[in-house]
Formats: sequence, structure tokens, C-alpha cells
Amino acid sequence: MTNSNSEHAATGLDTRPAPRISVIGTGYLGATHAAAMAEMGFDTIGVDVDPSKLAALAAGEVPFYEPGLPELITKHVASGKLRFTADLAEAVASSDVHFICVGTPQRAGSHAANLSYVESATRSVAEHLTHPGLIVGKSTVPVGTAARLRALVAEFSPAGIDVELIWNPEFLREGKAVEDTLHPDRLVWGGASAAADAVIREVYAAPIAEGTPVIATDLPTAELVKVSANAFLATKISFINAISELCDIAGADVTTLADALGHDVRIGRKFLNAGLGFGGGCLPKDIRALMHRSSELGANRVVGLMQQVDEINMGQRQRVIDMAIEAAQGSVLNRRIAVIGAAFKPLTDDVRDSPALNVAAALHLRGAQVSLWDPEAMETAKRSFPTLTYAESMEAAVEGADMVLVLTEWDDIVQADPSSLRALVGRAIVIDARNCIPVTDWVKAGWSVRSLGRTASVAGAPVSIAAGTNDLMATSR
Ligand code: NAD
Repeated sequence: MTNSNSEHAATGLDTRPAPRISVIGTGYLGATHAAAMAEMGFDTIGVDVDPSKLAALAAGEVPFYEPGLPELITKHVASGKLRFTADLAEAVASSDVHFICVGTPQRAGSHAANLSYVESATRSVAEHLTHPGLIVGKSTVPVGTAARLRALVAEFSPAGIDVELIWNPEFLREGKAVEDTLHPDRLVWGGASAAADAVIREVYAAPIAEGTPVIATDLPTAELVKVSANAFLATKISFINAISELCDIAGADVTTLADALGHDVRIGRKFLNAGLGFGGGCLPKDIRALMHRSSELGANRVVGLMQQVDEINMGQRQRVIDMAIEAAQGSVLNRRIAVIGAAFKPLTDDVRDSPALNVAAALHLRGAQVSLWDPEAMETAKRSFPTLTYAESMEAAVEGADMVLVLTEWDDIVQADPSSLRALVGRAIVIDARNCIPVTDWVKAGWSVRSLGRTASVAGAPVSIAAGTNDLMATSR
């Protein structure tokens, strides 16, 4: 891929042949965006305040797991298209379009987003402008943030320098970040003048040429598109998880139900997997920030809806903890529990607000001997929860276990041979908290399988509502 290399002097923002790019914040979003910009042919410079992250990236090493990203960064550090610096002034002076990609985590003691990083990064870019530029916000922010940032830019940018701020939210998925950034399913930006619109279209010329739909809108709509997308996905997950509880009580199978629902094109099958619920660095904090901002603005229906979604989601973690305690006949004290998975989802080593790590830690705190294994997230998990025992392999984790908990749906466990694992454990009980293992094969291999919303099919016999039994121990299917 190459950029159009066309002149865009008409925009008044710059007179060079193609915009040069700075990316402020080189975490999951920024490192991927910077690499993608270089791949699209732009001279790109990544800036961060974390020197160890910069050193790793400059050496072509990505300090987190993201398939395809190390190769792309290595390729463009070598080609000279991509470099990294801690010197924001230098980056701003040598670029024309400045992408703000810093974090917007949940504020301590509040549901609100912590906007201090976005504010500080935007202000620093404005202060260091030496020539006309376009500031493009990509971080996920509450509606109304960009308008406030515009005021900051107006206050702190040098007099006489032409600068504009627009918002261009990012929809990439961790684990598929490179593909999603190079070939996005849509491009959304808000608040662009005709000049800024021309520049951002030039930056995204390659995906636009591939037919990626463009939605150019106002600032609040652009901000809200991202937050609403995450709120909708979270609602879909919590919906099926609420239904899974009913399935358990009524003796229905939530997986079959989801398959049947998914055939309706208005519903779709994605994000309808009942299980331990969502986590990670985005969905939980984004729905809470939406709750907070909606409350500030008096949109109380959104507050109530998001509250329910969050409660159902967090309740799934407790359901799995309770299930483990029940399987251990009332106490997990000194029970050996093998936990497979720490990452909040497969294909990432991200353990931010990970349901898997949350459940593992809760069982550990109740006195269980937790032995955890994850194919990619061992280091990040150890940093967040050093007191758990980390096993060298899946086999080592399950060795002698009284119970196995599948908490992240990695292929390694989905495709594992249940007979070989059966031979290693003390008691062949598995809680499939992601509804991901082939239950029939596991039951055939002698396992008792427990899962969320699948009582009937896992147990192999209808469960009587009248009897009120909720025994999930399976011996056949
Ligand atoms: P992250 O924590 O991985 O990265 C943020 C980076 O910004 C860190 O490396 C930090 O050191 C750096 N930083 C903070 N202040 C800075 C400053 N003043 N100057 C330069 N660098 C600074 O976070 P992330 O997951 O990349 O998320 C960033 C934003 O993108 C968030 O708003 C998030 O909601 C949004 N987002 C993330 C994803 C995702 O999948 N991770 C997807 C879409 C949108």
C-alpha cells in the first residue's frame, strides 16, 4: 500500500506532498495505528511517555501480544517509515497530522473516564506546533470531550498557526488489530472542515479506495458512535447471559438457542456466546463512562440500561465462582483448581479487567490452590496477580487438579484431547465457563462437565423445573 502522494496545499494545512504522521501514545491502539500508517506509506513517528515501551518498539519488539504487529513494526522500522521517540516537541515539529491515541481508563473511585491523559497529550501537541496541523482524536471519549479539547487547543497553540481538531474513533479489536486497522469496516470522523476532511481522506486513501464506508459527521455523533457500538455489544452479551440463567432453570440449552437466534439476520450469531462475560480495557470502562456521562446529561434510560448490563456481566463471574464452590461440595479451601486462561479473550495477552483472572483470584482468596496457565498472558497476569501459581503448560496446570476451570476460550483448550487431560487430573470435573469445549467428547472421556445455560444438554436429561434441581454434573449427553 502506498499513499496518493498528492499535493494538498489547497487545504491550507500544509504544502508538502503527503502528510507526515505523529501518533501520541503507543499502546495497543497507538502502536497498531502507527504501524498501519507506515504500511499505508506515510512517514510516521510514535510518541509515548513510557521509555521502556518506546525502546521495545524501536527494536521491533511489541510489548504486548498482537498477531502480525511485530512483523509490521519490524518491517517499517527497517524501512525508515516508522520511528519512535519520547520527544513530543520533535515529533510535532516533524509531522502534520497528530493522532491522539492515549488511554482513557476508568477514573479511580468513579465510573467516569479519566481524561487527564487525553487532555495533557492534546495540550502538549497544541503547545509544540511549529506549523499548521490537524489533531485527530482516536481515543474513546465521553460525548462533549472533543469540544472541550478544541478550547484547549485554541488556548495553547501558538498564535497565527492554523490548527484543527477532529474526532476519529477507533473500532479495532485486540487480536485482529492489524487487519482491522488496515482494512476497517467503517471510517468515522466528526467535526472536520472541508480542509481537514481532505487531509483525513488523504490519510485513509487506501482503505477508502477499497470501498470502506466513510461517515463524516459532527463531533458529538463521532464520539457517541464508538461508545454506542461498545454499549450495544456489551448489551448483547449480557442479554444472552441473562437468558442463560433462565435456560439453566428451565432446562433449555443456551448454545442451541443462540444458534437458532443467530439465523435471524436482524439478530446475528456474533456476541451471543453465553459465558463468563466481557472484560478487557474497553467494554467495561466504556459502558461505565457512558453511564456517568448520560447521568450528567440527564439521559436516565441509558443509565438504567447500562447499569443492568454491567450488573449481569459482573454477576456471571460470581455464578462461576459459586459453581466452583458447589462442585467442591461447599468449600474450595485447599482444593487444587486448574485455571485455563487469564486473558480477557483469546488472541491477546491483555488482562485488564479480565473475568478469568478475577475468578482465579477470587478462588485463590477463598483458599483454593489455583494453578493457572494461559498461552500468551502469563507475564501480564503475573504482574497483576503475582500470588497465584503459574504453571509451565496446560498439562502442568491440570496435574492432580480437583477441578479444571476453562475461563478463556483459547484454541489450546478447545482442541485439547480430553482423554490425555483426564489421565492427569485428580478429579475429572471441568467447568466450561466459556461454553467452548466439545462437551460430548469430554463426557465420553469420563469428565463431569458443568457450564452456563446448558444444564439440559450437558446432563443429557431434561431438568425438572418442579424438582428445582440445578445439578450440572454430566455423565452422558
Ligand atoms: P494503552 O494503555 O495500551 O496505551 C495508552 C498509551 O498512552 C500508553 O502507552 C501510555 O504510556 C501512553 N500515554 C499516556 N499519556 C501520554 C502522553 N501524554 N503522551 C504520550 N503517550 C502517553 O491503551 P489502549 O488500549 O491503546 O487504548 C487507548 C485508547 O484507545 C483508549 O481510549 C481506548 O478506549 C481506545 N481504544 C482501544 C482499543 C483496544 O482494543 N485496546 C480499541 C479501540 C479504542
